Amino acid sequence: MEYITKSTEETKSLGKKIATDLIVAGRNSQGARVLALVGDLGAGKTTFVQGLALGLGVDARIISPTFILMRNYGNLYHVDLYRLEKGVKREIENIGLTDIWGNPDNIVVIEWAEKIKNSLPKNTIWITFESIDENERKITVL
Ligand code: ADP
Ligand code: MG
Repeated sequence: MEYITKSTEETKSLGKKIATDLIVAGRNSQGARVLALVGDLGAGKTTFVQGLALGLGVDARIISPTFILMRNYGNLYHVDLYRLEKGVKREIENIGLTDIWGNPDNIVVIEWAEKIKNSLPKNTIWITFESIDENERKITVL
């Protein structure tokens, strides 16, 4: 599914809509729902997570967890691997991600997820973000 958003708010709304879809889809027996976000700096990944959190009823300001790798808001886990060296598997285990996405109650959203592509669960939903111009983004849900 391909979306064009023309403002920050539109990208938040898309995050909110996808949160609703995830809730409607409900628990899946294989583990957490994992969203892998891919796109350059400023492409709108964190903005999308803010909308997603709203849709999940998270009452907190979502900021990028760049310096601490991961934050959680109840069962929503927000991970940012920007500073992670490519393919550093041990780090994923260090922050307990394997356990976290093993729990079907959790929703895990990961920025720069391509860095740990081979470690992610098979049912991961991939979402790519591309900047078209200053306020326009192409967002593709794979
Ligand atoms: P990332 O997490 O991918 O680095 P951010 O979400 O932190 O990106 O930043 C996106 C920036 O682009 C924000 O300053 C946001 O206000 C701006 N922006 C402008 N138009 C859009 C849009 N259509 N969707 C998302 N962000 C947009
Ligand atoms: Mg970000």
